Amino acid sequence: MTALVPIVSARAWRQYQPFEGGSYICRGQTEHGFHAVIVELVAADGTVGWGEAAPLGAFYAEAFPEEMAEGTARLLPEVIGLSADAPARLSDRLNEAMLGQPGVKSALDMAAWDLAARRAGLPLADLLGGVAQRSTALYRSISQATPDEMAESARHYLDEGYRRLQVKVGQDPLEDIERLRAVRSAVPADVVLYADANGGWLVDDALRFLRGTGDVDFWLEQPCMTLAENRRLARSCPHPFILDEGITGLTSLLEAHADGLISGVTLKIARLGGVGPTRVLRDVATALGLKVTIEDTGGSTIDTAATAHLMASVPARHVAHTVDFMNWVTVQNATGMPPCSNGLLHLPEGPGLGITVDPEQFGAPFATAG
Ligand SMILES: [Mg+2]
Repeated sequence: MTALVPIVSARAWRQYQPFEGGSYICRGQTEHGFHAVIVELVAADGTVGWGEAAPLGAFYAEAFPEEMAEGTARLLPEVIGLSADAPARLSDRLNEAMLGQPGVKSALDMAAWDLAARRAGLPLADLLGGVAQRSTALYRSISQATPDEMAESARHYLDEGYRRLQVKVGQDPLEDIERLRAVRSAVPADVVLYADANGGWLVDDALRFLRGTGDVDFWLEQPCMTLAENRRLARSCPHPFILDEGITGLTSLLEAHADGLISGVTLKIARLGGVGPTRVLRDVATALGLKVTIEDTGGSTIDTAATAHLMASVPARHVAHTVDFMNWVTVQNATGMPPCSNGLLHLPEGPGLGITVDPEQFGAPFATAG
């Protein structure tokens, strides 16, 4: 047995990441940027691991920026002295020290996986089981606006190379029908469309939307918030059905599958608690025959690198698509990520996340340990 190499220091910073387009509207709520938490873990041999997590305001997930920072500061001392080679054991420690709060734990968990992979000299995707593909199709979300404005955004994103679009619905169902139809008419038939309500509809709203869009080719994502509502709706839905907000862990994934509800799932790293928990749901979802999207609730380059490694490890026939959050915001926090091209997110080279982070860019940390 090799000697334990401990984690000897940990630091955390906050970084504000404004949206490239100025604002982002979802479920009727407007946000102007991500408030990210960035974590650095240092092992006794000098190896460094990085993690990042960001909520979308306070409305999107059961997390908000101040909580993420306060929770990280509280958990940081817990990881000092733990093995730099055992990210799942670090996750156990976080779960002993704090009940729930997966968003708070995500950046720490991600940094622990990056650290272990760098120590092993392996790209993170290899530590997660191996690379199935080096590039993953991207989608771009079309923020809620008038149907004409959303059609214009769709054309803009096609010009940028995206071939999969997510139309934000979940408001007035009759307006939402017009939103989806306007975007569908504006793009070629081979462009994949998702109508994502982010759980914004009640069942009756969603039924009206489905009645008005029966002839349109699209995938339906998280129409209503609760499993009971989505169960009522799925019986009337002729489209492939995806859950995102409803997948908060293994239990909700198994329940949705047992109900025969879903064709696929969107796994968000921070909503599940980091790379480790996401790895578990990746394996269960693929074993159940589902399409898998892995992305996050926010972040920039560090988070996008983790997304690229997780998606690279999804078996090819189960890949849906993913997100390049580093291109949604005006702030980068690492170098080494290959630029996206042809609507694809590419895996970086090298051990761990395959990126380089200069902590000088962040200023003073809000928390330190060790
Ligand atoms: Mg979604």
